[in-house]
Amino acid sequence: MILKLLRHFNRAYGYAVFGIYLVAFGIAFLFIFIFPPATLALLFISIFGLIFFNVLGFALRTIERRWNRARLAKGLCPECGAAALSAVVAGAGEIRCGACDARHDAQGAWIKPVVHEPEPVQA
Ligand SMILES: [Zn+2]
Repeated sequence: MILKLLRHFNRAYGYAVFGIYLVAFGIAFLFIFIFPPATLALLFISIFGLIFFNVLGFALRTIERRWNRARLAKGLCPECGAAALSAVVAGAGEIRCGACDARHDAQGAWIKPVVHEPEPVQA
């Protein structure tokens, strides 16, 4: 349950941080006319906030990877919990789940599935 929440949060983390910065931009833009020093303060807070969000994202990804590694070591898929996985893609060090087709690398990081674009139909 917690791992599932963490996984969803990690996959949406970039969008969440972008949303926070978009809101901060809107607030800063409004404060240009009301109280200009607040805009400057928000600018510096957001610049140093990048370091904070970067470290936080790294920590969350590390926690998820460790959790995934522990489940992979037990022979369980971190995504669906099925025991019928471990079809290793030759040479790449990838572990693929046979039930849900999720792939993870040797460090436990989730590998985004490659979606092939359909070939254009020629008339
Ligand atoms: Zn699976």
